[in-house]
Amino acid sequence: MERVYIGLGSNLAEPRQQLHSALQAISALPHSQLLGVSSFYLSDPLGPADQPRYLNAVAELDCALEPLQLLDALQVIELDQGRVRKAERWGPRTLDLDILLFGQRVIDEPRLQVPHYHLHARAFVLYPLAELAPQLTLADGRQLSALLAACPFTGLQRLAPNDTNNSLAWR
Ligand code: ATP
Ligand code: MG
Ligand code: MG
Repeated sequence: MERVYIGLGSNLAEPRQQLHSALQAISALPHSQLLGVSSFYLSDPLGPADQPRYLNAVAELDCALEPLQLLDALQVIELDQGRVRKAERWGPRTLDLDILLFGQRVIDEPRLQVPHYHLHARAFVLYPLAELAPQLTLADGRQLSALLAACPFTGLQRLAPNDTNNSLAWR
């Protein structure tokens, strides 16, 4: 088993429901155990600004799948939830599931780069991740606390736990 962190995002078709459905599907992944889920956060979109704000969260699991098997499974969940892949990068989507970290592995394959290449610059990833693993150190020695200190809490709004209704439901 390796400790895996998945970033979830949605800004179309009832984002809160999208995240809850995705967490349900993640909790049913084979050879995996969902350990925890961060609060939900509202964030300003990357890329095209003429799209709704995103709802984001991070999920923590123990996973015995290989990384590419996990990516396949996450892409099935995205497609099940109506994700349409468009040419435009970072356009609106029903669901985005990104592998942020996979244990201490460093992966650089055409389909998969881990740690996620933009992890260090995304407040909507770092702040929820820190709720789950404040002491985390990346494979290259960078500490999450240092990444956080360099990433302002800008364009981000943390929703209260009873608002997200997710704090215990997935354990
Ligand atoms: P960003 O990667 O900047 O967050 P995005 O999530 O919108 O953008 P997608 O369209 O979801 O990008 O994914 C494009 C491709 O990225 C996927 O088909 C997948 O093969 C590849 N990819 C590479 N590394 C990862 C990763 N760590 N997690 C998920 N997908 C990845
Ligand atoms: Mg993404
Ligand atoms: Mg993605």
